[in-house]
Amino acid sequence: MRDEEKIEKILDVIKDEILPLTECEVKRGNHVFGGAILRPDTMTSVMVGSNNRVENPLFHGEIDTLNRFFKLPVHSRADELIFLASHDPCPMCAAAIAWAGFKEVWYLFDHRDIAEKFGMPTDGEMFKELFGAKGVRAENKFFKKYSIKEAIASLPDTEHFAPVMEEIEKRYAALEVADFEYPGSPDADT
Ligand SMILES: [Zn+2]
Repeated sequence: MRDEEKIEKILDVIKDEILPLTECEVKRGNHVFGGAILRPDTMTSVMVGSNNRVENPLFHGEIDTLNRFFKLPVHSRADELIFLASHDPCPMCAAAIAWAGFKEVWYLFDHRDIAEKFGMPTDGEMFKELFGAKGVRAENKFFKKYSIKEAIASLPDTEHFAPVMEEIEKRYAALEVADFEYPGSPDADT
């Protein structure tokens, strides 16, 4: 599959599958982070998930996706599939994806987006405070991690993706996230 086609299909899954689920979950008080597991030959989804912090604060979008995937009675091995995260995974989720056995990981929004556009600095703080790190290494022994935005920027026809990227950014920006107390947040001490 050509790179253009691959990116197009990844964006379709975000727009048509992850976002509709996330839009519902945000109304229930959950956060905006979502994920999907894709078949590499067709880039279609095997499973989609979205943050479920209302049930358990550990159920980030990626963990919800993994939990749903491993509940399937029959599924391919993780190393034969691709993990897609709407946002660059936090330390817990990055480790969970590695433990699950995925070797190829894609994400849309980076840690700066997460802190600035989504008002969620805790991911970056966890990396810094727990590990003295800025994030997960894109290339490591367990998986390779790719930025959708960087991949688009490296393609000859970057503009082709502008309308769909604009739609996706707009829909994420429109999500109204309920207040939630995270560890380390200013409210948590009071
Ligand atoms: Zn996470």
